[in-house]
Amino acid sequence: MKRLTIDPSTSGLPTKDHVETKAFPEAKTTKLHPANAKEEDTNATLYFIGTATTILEWEGLRILTDPNFLHAGDHVHLGPGVSGTRQTNPAIDLEELPRIDAVLLSHYHEDHFDRLVEDKLKRELPIITTPHAKKCLEGKGEESFTHVHALDFFESIQVDVKDGEATKQRKPSIKITGMPGKHVPPGPLAVANDILKAVPPINGWMIELGYADGPEQFENGYRIYISGDTLMIDELKEIPERYKGQNIDLMLIHLGGTTIPGPNMPLLMVTMDAKQGVQLMQLINPDLTIPIHYDDYDVFLSPLSDFKKAVLEAGLSDKVVYLDRKDQFKFNVRQGDDSGSGSGSSGLLAEKLATHAV
Ligand SMILES: [Zn+2]
Repeated sequence: MKRLTIDPSTSGLPTKDHVETKAFPEAKTTKLHPANAKEEDTNATLYFIGTATTILEWEGLRILTDPNFLHAGDHVHLGPGVSGTRQTNPAIDLEELPRIDAVLLSHYHEDHFDRLVEDKLKRELPIITTPHAKKCLEGKGEESFTHVHALDFFESIQVDVKDGEATKQRKPSIKITGMPGKHVPPGPLAVANDILKAVPPINGWMIELGYADGPEQFENGYRIYISGDTLMIDELKEIPERYKGQNIDLMLIHLGGTTIPGPNMPLLMVTMDAKQGVQLMQLINPDLTIPIHYDDYDVFLSPLSDFKKAVLEAGLSDKVVYLDRKDQFKFNVRQGDDSGSGSGSSGLLAEKLATHAV
């Protein structure tokens, strides 16, 4: 397994324009996992900026996903002759970003890594991404990014958090694994796309937050699956097979039913719509799902209201948490129990709450 050690105390400023460190952005609303948890019993935060951009913070480490900081009216180039117009503003601007220790990039597309981000981001910021995006990010001559790590499907990297406290026996650690995904449905179109390179290859992610005793021992404490910009494809069926008996606490699903003109074709949907989103919930069966990437561009044709309706019809309403831009979601990364059974989260929290009551 690939390994990376990150020391948040040395991460510096996230962009070339930053002159001072900014505070972690304040949230409009906080939602909790489980919904009746007490905020003081949580130790990790996911802050929603917009599109597929979030900040995941835990144990002093901050990961920024799919950075997109364009504003309403700005355009993105999404392939030969294909563009989109942003309809929303991000919760914070690029220059308001707090300290960031790493970027997780699902694919090299401008609604996930825009030109502004590409210009301004510090070159040495570690980026974990696809082999295709690595090539692009490292092929910019003097402006190349210098710490890019690529993962294939089902390949993992273990990110150890250097906390400076040598007394701590168990080190916080994050295992990130590339998950399969495809923007383009299999068949003749996929072949055409391979030739045209119109739509880049994508990764989903499994992010496991946990603790490691030694180099080879990792114990998961909270498991997050991020779908990436994929359609419902057969390859996704391998995920529940590989993680059989291992609870998936949270899923971030890229919705929107993004529809663009395909190569020599009238229209082509390249991300999940409401129907496929519900199918993915049924396939992955996470404790909770948070939809993201749903209303930020004019090419996102499947509105969140469609997903809400489909979720209601499928009887899955208590399994979904809706975040607006500027909202945050807090949860507890368990320590000392193997989450395999899936009862870990609520069980441990109930135990804690009981202790508090005494
Ligand atoms: Zn996208």
